Amino acid sequence: MNKPMMIVESGRPKAKIVVGDSNQAVEASNILQSTIKNISGAELPITTDNQSVSGTHIYVGRGKSVESFGIEIPSGITSQMDEEGFTIRNVNDSLVIAGNEDWHYRGTIYAVFDFLEIIGCRWFFPGQYGQVIPQMDTISIPPINKIERPSFRMRNIWYSGWMPVNDEDSEELTRWLDCNKANRLLISLPGDGTITRLAPSDQYFDTHPHIYAVDSKGERSRDMLCLSQPDTIEIATETIRTAFDQNPTMFAFGFAPPDGMPMCHCTQCQQRLHGINAKHLGRASLSDGWFYFVNEVAKKIQVEFPDRWLLTNGYANRMYPPEGISDFSENIGIQFAFLQSCTLHRIGDPRCWQRQDCEKLLKRWADLCPVFIYDYDPGVDLQNLPFPTLHNLRHDIPFFKDLGVWGFWTEGQNTWMRTHLNYYVRTKLMWNSDLDVDAIVRDYCQKFYGEAAYWIEKYVWTLENAVEKTDLHAQWGNNHHIPWKIIFTDPLIETLQEYLNHARQQTSALAHQRHVDMLQEYHHYLIAFLSIQQLTHLGEYQQAISKIDEALVARSKLSEVKSNLLPHTPDWVVESSDSTLEGLSDICRYLLDRTDGTVGKLVVFLPRDWKFKTDPFEDGLIEQWYRSDYEDEWDSVATTLYWENQGYQNETGYGYTGYAWYRTEFEVKNDMGNRPLILTFGGVFGQEIWVWINQLLVLHRDNESPSKPFDINLPENIQVGTNQIAVRIHSHGAHRGAQGGIYRRAFLWTSNN
Ligand SMILES: [Zn+2]
Ligand SMILES: [Zn+2]
Repeated sequence: MNKPMMIVESGRPKAKIVVGDSNQAVEASNILQSTIKNISGAELPITTDNQSVSGTHIYVGRGKSVESFGIEIPSGITSQMDEEGFTIRNVNDSLVIAGNEDWHYRGTIYAVFDFLEIIGCRWFFPGQYGQVIPQMDTISIPPINKIERPSFRMRNIWYSGWMPVNDEDSEELTRWLDCNKANRLLISLPGDGTITRLAPSDQYFDTHPHIYAVDSKGERSRDMLCLSQPDTIEIATETIRTAFDQNPTMFAFGFAPPDGMPMCHCTQCQQRLHGINAKHLGRASLSDGWFYFVNEVAKKIQVEFPDRWLLTNGYANRMYPPEGISDFSENIGIQFAFLQSCTLHRIGDPRCWQRQDCEKLLKRWADLCPVFIYDYDPGVDLQNLPFPTLHNLRHDIPFFKDLGVWGFWTEGQNTWMRTHLNYYVRTKLMWNSDLDVDAIVRDYCQKFYGEAAYWIEKYVWTLENAVEKTDLHAQWGNNHHIPWKIIFTDPLIETLQEYLNHARQQTSALAHQRHVDMLQEYHHYLIAFLSIQQLTHLGEYQQAISKIDEALVARSKLSEVKSNLLPHTPDWVVESSDSTLEGLSDICRYLLDRTDGTVGKLVVFLPRDWKFKTDPFEDGLIEQWYRSDYEDEWDSVATTLYWENQGYQNETGYGYTGYAWYRTEFEVKNDMGNRPLILTFGGVFGQEIWVWINQLLVLHRDNESPSKPFDINLPENIQVGTNQIAVRIHSHGAHRGAQGGIYRRAFLWTSNN
């Protein structure tokens, strides 16, 4: 058949849907029928295969007739879980839309959504707002003959709890994943703490206490196992054996230790760690202990179930492959987490050591065993700023495909202004890693913004280029404040605003106008947020407060359209993390209160620029760098930005770690009376801080909350006239991306009390 097939003509149905034998075929037929009706007003009749039908047919799912055609349709299931796919093709005067429905596969559903995409439908966001349904009263389709199979067998994005998620959001996400051919596989996964599945404590704790881990106080723990104890290995093996026996299509058993620093403190477990620390995690690498245990169990399971998988994770302190295991069992699969790895740059970026390390580790794992990726999108903080990483997806997803990676279990957030384009492009590439990202983005701009497409496309790629080229590095779990102004510079923000102005002028269709307006609102949020952050760092607290209201207004306007475009942060997140608009707002108010008379009054801001000197060989104390007559060579840095962002990082973005010194002078006038002076640091990054005033050590602080300001009651040696202050900071490599030093201004004030 070479001529187009007419489905609807001038609002009248010209084809019938013939529904296949399964529930999935019924679901898919209903989706097809209702969407065609939304497009054209015409309702295609749905019939079963038994009724005699004449005219043009659209067969949805398998049935008697489809089987008789003898065409290839993906089917079947093995423990490889790589049989997904669908067929869309013309047969005689009819069309077959059907896919693999075995096991948990959703092939016929994907086939219908793929067919609707051919007609022009799109699902950029979950729910009504992101849906594009073309309006036409005639639908005719060109000849189609295709079989599609996905590039990856796992293609999931799930909502973590960092942003609010209601039932409707969850349902809409599930549907949206179907629309874009993502999946959830429904296999047993190695979630945090799932090790308890292996030996449930209510079953074994009383009778077999010795299989449970010894904690640091010598007590047995119910949440973690002793990994070197032979009985632990026996019991774990028996649990998995029973599960596999009872469930023939349970192809995988997932288990992992609890989050954090899970280990057994018994001598044998400790010895097995071989004293290895993971670079930049800075504490014990637990890989050898953990994978010894996993491997022993896996070898036993393999004898009986050679085609099933034990899945565990390479997460937290188990990101490194083990060093002391020679016979790594090939039935182990690893969920490799992109922790402690910059998310602004692509894998292997020559300017980003974190992404280079990621590439090296991943390649080592992929040599050992099947790997799937646990990554984070957005991969930074909770501040809800744009997170453009299409430049990464374009490179990384084909790279993963070449490496044989199984797929993705992406930790997502319910913040769709921030993530929708990433997620949309992600689903496209997870299905077919050969697709052209530029073409996907162009199509998105045309379908979602209509006449404004040209300017929105410029907006998207201008933002992308700025992130791709930045020498700032940031990662998920990095809960202090990232200096976003380095990427989102004033000229960049102005350029983006010009594009949005053009876009607004170009649009006439109401739907497109609304989409541009929402993007504009999000741009307002970005501008306001950047101002709050910048003004707080500089000490302009009053102005910063007024910007907070602007950010809140932009956020509510977006929430009015749909609560998950730019959601409110849940209370527990606000309480547990400073990395939110609310957290920044609290910090700003704390500082304002100390200057505007609420808690106290400003005496003087310390200078913005201080003398600075790194101290890699720890000479500073011996040579008394805090003395004003120690001149030597000092640099000058601003105290409103981390030292990495002022030149103290190498060409791969590795920031200076170790000791560093700041020094400056400040004046105290003689009209202070006898009121005590307090010195407040707005924000200092470093694990330890020492402060000298007039050559006397007045403070040593373990700096556990580097995003929070702190106060020092000044000692009696403070004097009218010129005073001298020196700050020594120790910033070691653990848990840091590229942030060190004083990054919010310090000031002197007097308390009202
Ligand atoms: Zn132990
Ligand atoms: Zn980077």
